[in-house]
Amino acid sequence: MFDRSRRNLAYWFAASMGGILLTFAGVGYGFIVQTQLRNFDDLLYRRSRILIGVQPSIPGVMQTIPIDLTYARWYRSDRQRIKYIGSPGANYLAGTIGFETIDGLRQLTLPIQRQNQTIGYLQVAAPLTPLQQSLEQVRFVLLFGVPIAIALIGVTGWILGGIAMQPSRRAYAQLQRFTADASHELRAPIAAVLSNAQVGLMPPEDLQEQHDRLERIVEIAKSMSALVTNLLWLARQELDRTKFQTVDLVQLIRGLDYPNDRAFTLSLPDHPIQIEADAELIRQAIFNLLSNAFKYTPNEGTVRLELISKQSAIIRVIDTGIGIPQEDLPHIFERFYRVDTARSKQTGGFGLGLAIVQQIVQAHQGQLSVSSELGSGSTFQIELPLKAARNKA
Ligand code: ADP
Repeated sequence: MFDRSRRNLAYWFAASMGGILLTFAGVGYGFIVQTQLRNFDDLLYRRSRILIGVQPSIPGVMQTIPIDLTYARWYRSDRQRIKYIGSPGANYLAGTIGFETIDGLRQLTLPIQRQNQTIGYLQVAAPLTPLQQSLEQVRFVLLFGVPIAIALIGVTGWILGGIAMQPSRRAYAQLQRFTADASHELRAPIAAVLSNAQVGLMPPEDLQEQHDRLERIVEIAKSMSALVTNLLWLARQELDRTKFQTVDLVQLIRGLDYPNDRAFTLSLPDHPIQIEADAELIRQAIFNLLSNAFKYTPNEGTVRLELISKQSAIIRVIDTGIGIPQEDLPHIFERFYRVDTARSKQTGGFGLGLAIVQQIVQAHQGQLSVSSELGSGSTFQIELPLKAARNKA
């Protein structure tokens, strides 16, 4: 699919650029022909002006005649030829006044005037060979140059097509992986719901067991619903920037719900910290980090949420929980990445929470980072541009 698009792109690029190039080459060639012919005519005219001053009856002056003229002929006012150099032509002046091209010669016929009276005519001609030779060179260059240029354009189009396709290729591969992972994640709970429901449909031997099975189905359905909600979050390609408003992070964080059965501390500055954001999304990001911190911190551990402002607004969620192994740290923001399935199974995560946080933070031109030590705890940090800083940028 991508190769065909790439080929099409290269083809259309080469065809359009080639068309433009051919048009330019055609127009350029026409222009060169015109210019060279005008120059040639200019030269011929200047030479004829020299000859007009020459008295044909005075012998000896003829040496001044430019040597590259094929002929020069003088006629009286009644158009009878009186003198010539080179080929004589007809005795009587025929043809038009001005420039003419005759058998590879450029001919110029001019009236000779004295005191506003035509006293005769001068006809000169020069071979067009130098002009034809130079135009032949131009044609030669165009004949080889244009196809080579079109071939180069084709190759460039192919390369550019490849570069242009890269993001789509990556996005497509990502989408495929995402779909495969999502289907994989849904398969296990669906199978569990099915088996519980099938057993539940049998005549009940033990009512309590049937009740447990139904409860299990409800639990799985809830977790599937959470998964689907998360998947829908991630499927949002573009966030609606029109929903961005000035948000005071201090107020937003103060308004969140916190568990009161856990050791939790909140540290907020006493002045507002304003950012341009979709408040709902920021709330979701902080919620995801906090729920991870509580999930992966034993009851006797502590969780701390702090907000500070430097060049940007910094939100930190610090826990003294189980920590994350160093080799997993570069991957934890990837979709469906779980550090080890054993500990996630206990806590029921799908490995999407941090991917969602990452997506939200990136949509706000912020940065998400983590530092963690296995067994000691983790610190997740969201850095968001302050309102003023963003306006200045
Ligand atoms: P999940 O829903 O599985 O928690 P996340 O994307 O939120 O998925 O997190 C990815 C993985 O990172 C989790 O499987 C978990 O092992 C690890 N993790 C995230 N937050 C913490 C934390 N505060 N402490 C320890 N491990 C964490």
